[in-house]
Amino acid sequence: MVANSFETLKKVIEDNSEADHFFRAVHEWGVVAVEEDPLQEGECVCGQQDLRYMYTIQNRHNGRTLEYIGSTCVEHFESSELNLQITTFRGLFDLRKKIIAGERIFLEADFSRDILRWLYEAGAFPANRFNNNNGENDYLFLLDMFNKHIKDNITQPQQRKIWGLLNYTVKPFVSNHPALG
Ligand SMILES: [Zn+2]
Repeated sequence: MVANSFETLKKVIEDNSEADHFFRAVHEWGVVAVEEDPLQEGECVCGQQDLRYMYTIQNRHNGRTLEYIGSTCVEHFESSELNLQITTFRGLFDLRKKIIAGERIFLEADFSRDILRWLYEAGAFPANRFNNNNGENDYLFLLDMFNKHIKDNITQPQQRKIWGLLNYTVKPFVSNHPALG
């Protein structure tokens, strides 16, 4: 265990980034994967131990990856974008856990705008005859339904379409995705 974990984190990030200074270098990094260590024996690059949720980050400029970063260490980055990505990956992880356990999933309870966006960008919605050969239509449909403030305004056909997309498109994609645990 190192004495000053923030100094270690700073050095690891600076050594692996294009920018020289930590607070400029942090903007080069994004979260690309999450894993859980149920025994809480994960270790952060800064030396902090006993991590349960372990995130892999990747540098957009040089492609390097670092594993692992703990969710509390990410706060040192002072990057709202990175914090949001941690929240999104944790949400995706929890979603996958529910799916694997065979629990029911719900659009309003188990998703967020960022989770839907991640799914779309990761290729969860393939083109098919139900979405006019454009997967973006499925993403935009789910986003539209998620954004509805009054859920009663969702019609029966829309509810069936949501159910179909969650069960036949999202579930297999999330349960088999290598970045989600
Ligand atoms: Zn750390």
